Amino acid sequence: MRPTQPRLHIGNYEGALRNWVDLQNKGFEMFCMVADWHALTTMFEETDQIGQNSIGVAKDFIAAGIDPDKSAIFVQSHVKEHAELHLLFSMVTPLGWLERTPTYKEKRDAMGGAEREPYGLLGYPVLQTSDILLYRPYGVPVGRDQAPHLEIGNDIGQRFNRLYGQDIFPTYKYLIPEDETRAKLPGLDMRKMSKSYDNCIYLADTADETAKKIKSAYTTPSKIKKDDPGIPESCAVCQYLKVYSPNWQTQWEEDRQGLRGCMMNKTECTEAINEYFRPMRELRASLDDNDVREILRQGAEKASAVASQTMIEVRKAMGLLA
Ligand code: ADP
Repeated sequence: MRPTQPRLHIGNYEGALRNWVDLQNKGFEMFCMVADWHALTTMFEETDQIGQNSIGVAKDFIAAGIDPDKSAIFVQSHVKEHAELHLLFSMVTPLGWLERTPTYKEKRDAMGGAEREPYGLLGYPVLQTSDILLYRPYGVPVGRDQAPHLEIGNDIGQRFNRLYGQDIFPTYKYLIPEDETRAKLPGLDMRKMSKSYDNCIYLADTADETAKKIKSAYTTPSKIKKDDPGIPESCAVCQYLKVYSPNWQTQWEEDRQGLRGCMMNKTECTEAINEYFRPMRELRASLDDNDVREILRQGAEKASAVASQTMIEVRKAMGLLA
């Protein structure tokens, strides 16, 4: 997760973090990373908040249920092996693979051309591949939008294995939520929920902030009167009901038949979201910055122990002098 803001939104939670917690609780060894170097690809001009944001994101991990005694919670820049593997992978990755990445094209156009586009933006999937393959994982739990990057990662790992005749890197699985609503949670305006669209509900929002946001959320455009039929598939509020309300099926059916108005949906949706996130919000508010720093220090140690072992094998495979 990139610390471009001091908090995560519920799209980050549904697409990735909720799965992290489930996998941890099933006994998987988890490496939960705050990707501060990755945040620099788009916010290199305003970096003063990155450190504090990293603490905020780590707080969200812990609030959501990541247990620092079971899982490594760490900041990317604290584990220098990420930079070393990135450099080595950058030597073996064909440029064409990177230029074809769909998110790269989008971001490059937004940056305003080659004179302004940072070198690091193109290499983003190479750094992400290093983040993943250093831990030689079984799988990577992410939201749907990350799938193209993960494909490149497996290609780079397999290319490395072939080039140096070693089986160092596994082919990992993409662990994307099966439910499409969760894999790509819509924002308040029905576009993908994303910090850059200003359409987010944050895990750390208060109950009142959540209520205010849901009031302004996009609903079925043709449902003007209370008894007009709704189309739950195209209504942000109904999408959230599906994720957070135990009675969503009845609520959707009534919406479709015009038996309930948007206000009722919004009230029940606010209650369901606030109910679901209340314990996480309380836990998050009780976390102390210095305790979180210590958790991140210990997490980096745990991650380094695994990452440094991978690097020994990588250097050896390439024939670098030990
Ligand atoms: P953002 O898109 O808000 O900048 P990041 O790129 O830092 O968020 O994504 C962090 C994780 O959250 C990734 O695994 C990504 O797939 C997931 N994610 C981001 N937005 C959503 C969303 N709207 N629905 C589901 N997963 C999401």
